Amino acid sequence: MTIAIVGAGLGGLALARVLHLNGIHAVVYERESWRGERDQGGMLDIHSGQAALREAGLIEEFYAIARGEGQDMRLLEPDGTLLLQEDTPEDAPLLRPEVDRADLRKMLLDSLPEHAVRWGHAYDSADNGVLRFANGSSTTYDLLVGADGANSRVRALLTDARPAHTGHNLVELGIPDADRTHPDLAAMVGRGNYWVLGNGQSLAAQRNGDGRVRIGLGFYNTPENWFATSGIPFDDPAAARARLIDLFAGWHPQFTALIAACDDVVRPRSISTLPIGLTWPTNPTTTLIGDAAHLMPPVGEGANMALLDGARLALALAAHPTDYPAAIEDYEHEMFKRTSAIGKRSAQVQELLTLPDASRRMLAFFQPG
Ligand SMILES: Cc1cc2nc3c(=O)[nH]c(=O)nc-3n(C[C@H](O)[C@H](O)[C@H](O)COP(=O)(O)OP(=O)(O)OC[C@H]3O[C@@H](n4cnc5c(N)ncnc54)[C@H](O)[C@@H]3O)c2cc1C
Repeated sequence: MTIAIVGAGLGGLALARVLHLNGIHAVVYERESWRGERDQGGMLDIHSGQAALREAGLIEEFYAIARGEGQDMRLLEPDGTLLLQEDTPEDAPLLRPEVDRADLRKMLLDSLPEHAVRWGHAYDSADNGVLRFANGSSTTYDLLVGADGANSRVRALLTDARPAHTGHNLVELGIPDADRTHPDLAAMVGRGNYWVLGNGQSLAAQRNGDGRVRIGLGFYNTPENWFATSGIPFDDPAAARARLIDLFAGWHPQFTALIAACDDVVRPRSISTLPIGLTWPTNPTTTLIGDAAHLMPPVGEGANMALLDGARLALALAAHPTDYPAAIEDYEHEMFKRTSAIGKRSAQVQELLTLPDASRRMLAFFQPG
């Protein structure tokens, strides 16, 4: 039986690793030409996904790369009022540590046998057990797993559903080597997450393992083409920062100082999601994991779900080694239920972020009653 996994992201690699531990061979086909082709982005908050890393035999390695102090949290209002400050004690359990996405991906890649990942293989099409790639090559499969992320192309084999814009547009930027270049701002942000919410906008700053403070500026209830009309000149970073500071007029100057200190990497990101509770009729040879199956708002669940999907599908296949359709059915039954509940909760959190009093709503969410 031949298992082809499309996409060497967190979900696809967790699947390949747990299959490997269970003596089941699989090949991962990845469109990028090598493991370092793309900047993997910032930190991930890994909580429920730790169960998948335990199944993958990698939990101790994970603890070694995880940052417990990344669990620190500061929540503020746009006028500078500090609503919540949680500092993680040295001996606190690693319940929701932050990990650098690149480190996590490297750990998973290094845990696989050589040649388990075929780089430079972008999915093109699949039918009747034949998988074709954009580079002109092809292979056969008994089971095809789409682990190809938010803009999955494998998804179209199972459902017509497509991601839709959420009204959330995000600008990503950051301060390199913040402790040295801007020690006052670095101290203000602290060791973990720093959130300022309100008036339909947000500023989220986060300390990364490499000393960079990554900053996300969120604009809610905005149309899909908002970047075109926002007046942010992304090709001129200094002018883009100036325009962003204008867009945060009325916020305490300590927040706009963070924007002013950023370097020239200023990136727009438009946030889309799949319908919550998306399902499809089970197909005996094809399934999806991770964002391909259930793209959610970026509120700290997607990577956890992708890791869990990968591990749970692998365990289902190990439990039905001669009956992959039964394994797919078992996996999808559990995955649909789990991710629809998490998707609903993520949408609620996302909705809070759009409200004028988002900071206070978020405080009530963290400290109910
Ligand atoms: C700003 C932001 C912050 C986030 N923070 C968090 C967080 O703190 N915690 C959390 O749990 N989640 C977080 N997420 C969500 C998380 O990043 C995703 O849910 C997670 O990466 C999904 O993993 P995946 O394996 O499904 O997809 P991906 O990690 O996107 O991997 C997909 C892989 O498929 C490859 N691929 C794509 N198309 C093809 C093709 N045609 N052929 C071959 N290969 C292909 C891609 O190159 C990639 O390697 C965040 C998301 C965003 C946008």
